[in-house]
Amino acid sequence: MNKKIIIAIDGYSSCGKSTFAKSIARELKYIYIDSGAMYRAVTLCCMRNGYIDHNQFDLNAILNNLGRMQVWFNFNNDTQVNETILNSENVENEIRGIEVSAHVSKVSQIHEVRERMVELQRQMGANKGIVMDGRDIGTVVFPEAELKIFMTASVDIRAQRRYDELIAKGDKVVFGEIKRNIIARDIADENRDISPLRRAEDAIVLDNSRMSVKDQMIWVMDLIEKRINAG
Ligand code: C5P
Repeated sequence: MNKKIIIAIDGYSSCGKSTFAKSIARELKYIYIDSGAMYRAVTLCCMRNGYIDHNQFDLNAILNNLGRMQVWFNFNNDTQVNETILNSENVENEIRGIEVSAHVSKVSQIHEVRERMVELQRQMGANKGIVMDGRDIGTVVFPEAELKIFMTASVDIRAQRRYDELIAKGDKVVFGEIKRNIIARDIADENRDISPLRRAEDAIVLDNSRMSVKDQMIWVMDLIEKRINAG
């Protein structure tokens, strides 16, 4: 049987990390984990309980209730998609909205939140055979990952992709707002004290501004084969 590896995909907001990571997982029959969905689910929980809104950020309430926020994934066989579950409820759709996007970078700066998410993520990858995407996967969660990719693309292309995705889902969104949110999240993710978004030294950069998913798959499958056959 083929050796199983860990594939860590990090990069900027909305540059197609999850589409790419999902395609790889499907091809290899690996588990796919969207670590951003976990931070989004915690954020949604905080918003619903009133710990966060546009005027307040109640850190004490978040910390006191963190232990009660259970986040995991359910693989839906019909849609072939991993759904994000928050305390038994499927929140896959709700966590993708602009409201959650507006608050998530603040929640993901909280040390205790990161500690809990990283622990869960490491458990998910304990048997390897996993593709995980996020901001700190190659640097913090799995520094020993056999393959690390750091993805980027121009801000306009990323904003357009996210805009198209939300419009296709029927959301009413404004392009400028999406773009501003992406820029703000990039800045927050790169400049936070704990686990900032960084390219791991041994990560390979993939700028997919002008690449189709098919091109990206051809590029990555060659790399994966080499890593699986190495040592
Ligand atoms: O990947 P996605 O854009 O859905 O992630 C939402 C937010 O979650 C990011 O903007 C970032 O603040 C946070 N995040 C993180 N670490 C990860 C994944 C996501 O801080 N590994």
